[in-house]
Amino acid sequence: VTSPSSCVFCRIVAGELPAERVAETERTLAFRDLAPQAPTHVLVVPKAHLADVGALADADAELLAALMADAVAVARAEQLDGGYRLVLNTGADAGQTVFHAHVHVLGGQPLGRLG
Ligand code: AMP
Repeated sequence: VTSPSSCVFCRIVAGELPAERVAETERTLAFRDLAPQAPTHVLVVPKAHLADVGALADADAELLAALMADAVAVARAEQLDGGYRLVLNTGADAGQTVFHAHVHVLGGQPLGRLG
């Protein structure tokens, strides 16, 4: 699996860019979003470079399952007892801006309805 030097999340995983890390496993890393959209806003990423959740599902469905389980663990550790939202923006229409798969863990206030 490649780790492009131009990928911001690969650089965070490698320790080349600073981030406020909140959790780490062998295969995933969680850190706080630079521009939080809610009182708690954590990103959980696979350490391997995969452009989006589709590439991740194709390459390694077990890693996708681990990523989601680790996102739930972050929500619990952040004590988002009132509820939380897991978001995977995928592609242009969803406004994906970083093309390294990531789960947004959002909570800490009512988030409003989606869909
Ligand atoms: P998305 O629109 O799903 O691709 O979201 C990418 C997210 O990454 C945005 O919420 C950004 O605020 C966040 N982000 C971009 N660069 C960094 C960084 N260096 N550290 C933490 N979060 C970042």
